[in-house]
Amino acid sequence: MTAVVNLLPGVPHRVLHGHPWVFSNEVKSIDGTYSPGDIVEIRSPGGKFVALGYINPNSAILVRLLSREDRAIDRDFFRERLQSALEYRRTLFGVQSFAEDERGFRLVFSEADFLPGLVVDIFGGYLVFQTLTLGIDKWKETIIDLLAELVSPKGIYERNDAPVRELEGLDLVAGYVGKPFNPLVEMVENGVRVLVDVQKGQKTGYFLDQSANRLALRPFVKGKTVLDAFSYSGGFGLSAMMGGAEEVLCLDVSEAALDMAKASAELNGFRQKMRFRAGNAFDVLRELESKGASFDVVVLDPPAFARSRKMVERALAGYKEINLRAMRILKPGGFLCTSSCSHHVTKEEFDAMLFDAARDAGKYLRIVESRGQRSDHPILSGVPETEYLKFRLCQVLPRH
Ligand code: SAH
Repeated sequence: MTAVVNLLPGVPHRVLHGHPWVFSNEVKSIDGTYSPGDIVEIRSPGGKFVALGYINPNSAILVRLLSREDRAIDRDFFRERLQSALEYRRTLFGVQSFAEDERGFRLVFSEADFLPGLVVDIFGGYLVFQTLTLGIDKWKETIIDLLAELVSPKGIYERNDAPVRELEGLDLVAGYVGKPFNPLVEMVENGVRVLVDVQKGQKTGYFLDQSANRLALRPFVKGKTVLDAFSYSGGFGLSAMMGGAEEVLCLDVSEAALDMAKASAELNGFRQKMRFRAGNAFDVLRELESKGASFDVVVLDPPAFARSRKMVERALAGYKEINLRAMRILKPGGFLCTSSCSHHVTKEEFDAMLFDAARDAGKYLRIVESRGQRSDHPILSGVPETEYLKFRLCQVLPRH
């Protein structure tokens, strides 16, 4: 029998307004027995059916919703969910066959695809997945089976070495599912050949959420010098080269990431005009400034500085520091591409930080484009956590 989670009366429940999470302090009682990861039923304070979800008493989030319909949660359920996630991407990108397509896509984006805890990316036909919660991990075999059936990928790699799994009481594991393949997968992004290390790369190997933003940079780089700070495997820098940049400097703290960037540069014949520097961007930006270095275009794409709301203030100080320094090393009228992937930092806070930095730098900032994550990482109404990436393309002008 499915256990029943009864919501507390007299408190506002986000779950009644479209949000997919129930916290333990929102629960009055649980009827019946369950094991962590099991499917449970959620009932309103009035005793009405609300949804089905999976429970994990060891996680900060007690229940994550799977369905607001009273239905069987089985193979067919997951098939329907996966099919609609795939259909959405087919529509977005005009994909005929995911296995044959040379591009990269996020096929499943967790809560935004009504499959909390599941992330699936595909790079040039090779599929990489993460089951980040216990409740979804229990369905791993079913999901792999269905993905194999629905996508027929060239290969499958499991990246369940993400530390968040530990919060769910899950082991960290990674490896091939089925036949091994060369983990250095090649894909094409906006016409650039990109190598993705699905085995040792960060997260699933590549950051597809910035894909359209890398293209947005292109009209501004022809014949220009570009600093790609926090470059990882060179996504923005390679795109700038494709746009006709005169010179690109990729800067990242990770040597392994820069090796990937170099390999991709080689593959595209960009190697002559690209330089690579390993170092802490905070230090290197300071050094570049003190040496009087200057660039026509600077890209800043740091990792999430705020992992919780409590960290926002310090994060904003960090963002401000790098943005201020970037503005100082930009040539007059140069362009700054700046991002934050912290969900906890709001759009308003990010823009305010940028304007603050411009004021301190004694510059005007012209916002050319305000963008976010690509559409294969959709933002779902009622689920603010699905919105995380802020990207601003700005022109930095002297005050005159
Ligand atoms: N711009 C990249 C993604 C960047 S992800 C792309 O288009 O794919 C963030 C990157 O910042 C990671 O590669 C990480 O290694 C790097 N990083 C983290 N802290 C850093 C620091 N203090 N200085 C330089 N790089 C850093």
